[in-house]
Amino acid sequence: MTTMLSYAMLGQTGARQLVSRTRGRFMRDSRCFSATAAHWNSSASPAANQKTPSYSYIIVGAGSAGCVLANRLTEDAHESVLLLEAGPKDMLLGSLRLSWKIHMPAALTYNLCDDKYNWYYHTLPQAHMDNRVMYWPRGRVWGGSSSLNAMVYIRGHAEDYNRWQREGAEGWDYEHCLPYFRKAQCHELGEDRYRGGSGPLHVSRGRTNHPLHKAFIEAGQQAGYPFTDDMNGYQQEGLGWMDMTIYKGKRWSTASAYLRPVLGRPNLKTEVHCLTTKILFDGNRAVGVEYTQDGQKKRVFADKEVILSGGAINSPHLLMLSGVGNADDLKQLGIPVVQHLPGVGSNLQDHLELYVQQQCTQPISLYKSQKPFHMVKIGLEWLTLFTGYGATAHLESGGFIRSRPHVSHPDIQFHFLPSQVIDHGRVASKMEAYQVHVGPMRSTSIGWMKLKSSNPLDHPILQPNYLSNGKIQSLNFQETIPSTVFRAYPYFPRKSTT
Ligand SMILES: Cc1cc2nc3c(=O)[nH]c(=O)nc-3n(C[C@H](O)[C@H](O)[C@H](O)COP(=O)(O)OP(=O)(O)OC[C@H]3O[C@@H](n4cnc5c(N)ncnc54)[C@H](O)[C@@H]3O)c2cc1C
Repeated sequence: MTTMLSYAMLGQTGARQLVSRTRGRFMRDSRCFSATAAHWNSSASPAANQKTPSYSYIIVGAGSAGCVLANRLTEDAHESVLLLEAGPKDMLLGSLRLSWKIHMPAALTYNLCDDKYNWYYHTLPQAHMDNRVMYWPRGRVWGGSSSLNAMVYIRGHAEDYNRWQREGAEGWDYEHCLPYFRKAQCHELGEDRYRGGSGPLHVSRGRTNHPLHKAFIEAGQQAGYPFTDDMNGYQQEGLGWMDMTIYKGKRWSTASAYLRPVLGRPNLKTEVHCLTTKILFDGNRAVGVEYTQDGQKKRVFADKEVILSGGAINSPHLLMLSGVGNADDLKQLGIPVVQHLPGVGSNLQDHLELYVQQQCTQPISLYKSQKPFHMVKIGLEWLTLFTGYGATAHLESGGFIRSRPHVSHPDIQFHFLPSQVIDHGRVASKMEAYQVHVGPMRSTSIGWMKLKSSNPLDHPILQPNYLSNGKIQSLNFQETIPSTVFRAYPYFPRKSTT
């Protein structure tokens, strides 16, 4: 579906010619922007004969993918790019400090507790989970979800990329992907066969040296799991120190890595607080978008491509609103069908994470740091020096294991946190405790999403069908693994709290 939307009205050469032929100008650099697109809209086109701006590329969503695309596409000074974002910038009055809830790594749960920078989605009640409604935070701000995620940098196992290639995703095997990972990355431990040393995406290791992290890794070894010194390198399997997208004590989102450094490019225009509500088509070619900003409806056109980078929920949502999806569903909501494409909104897959929490026998968890006096101290240190407990997301250790001997490569992921987090931080922690996040990596439950209505402001209906594949047993099995790890170490003698 993305490929279809990548169709350009004109080929690359044609579009360049179009830009150079254009007379109307409206941006800083007269080489880059045209002020009319009417000549390539057919009479069926929604904006025929209207004076409307056009760009080489329109990118919908300034999130993880959108920021990278905006950077790379504007490397060519002949191309013009419009980056549309529904949320705000990730700075207040140009200051990262004033936006500390985004940029202070330890503050990560703040933005999960409200909808200021967050789409705040919820699933349908989950039949196989005692009808629990699951909360799905997603970023709505420059950087998208990379501005409110947990900052753990994990590439995935080489064998999963190789499987993609075997299943038909040409060019997505690990050997082809590795050079791009290296190109993107600047690892604080320096370049090697797997790590990059000079890319825009800064990656670092934790600095807290917290005894519970050390104990977790040691306990894992005592329980028979290997130590791995680089989960993104030669050996993913084992327990060890995690890589994090944190740089000089600050969250290193894709907005930090890719967008803010290129804001001065004259061929990049960014718009915030604008919700893209519809893709405009000429026949079945995407030629522009409609969006709302300050209560006004606006249209803009792309000479080359309309790129959807709104994320796993919002991109299919926008496609369906625009008439691309299951024709029967669209007709029921009165949406004119542009293309019957029933795959849009189907095959929704998400991986559950279980938090296994243990009470701590000694007062060494982060519980004390969450008391107001200590929080102020931590906050002041971060605001002045960008160091201390505010400068880490605290998910500094973790690992990957195989659930059973016959499994070819790790299928379970651990993150360790020397603290308790209840319901994404929406409920305050209650005691000296720590937790292991346990996540299956190749979940097989398959769900769907559909439009609730034709109103772009309505959230879509999200049905992940968690645990619907009858493999509940394997999840129970995973619950026992952290207990094994805990039991092997004297810090961890207590029973689970949840
Ligand atoms: C709470 C949380 C923790 C996570 N932790 C980790 C982690 O530790 N490590 C990791 O690797 N991954 C983590 N992830 C996942 C990771 O952050 C996402 O997979 C990734 O950021 C998705 O990138 P994306 O570009 O597809 O979408 P996003 O980064 O979500 O970007 C989409 C952007 O498009 C904008 N947008 C959407 N629709 C429209 C529209 N109609 N008009 C205009 N703009 C629109 C959104 O506002 C958003 O800014 C986490 C995710 C969450 C939510």
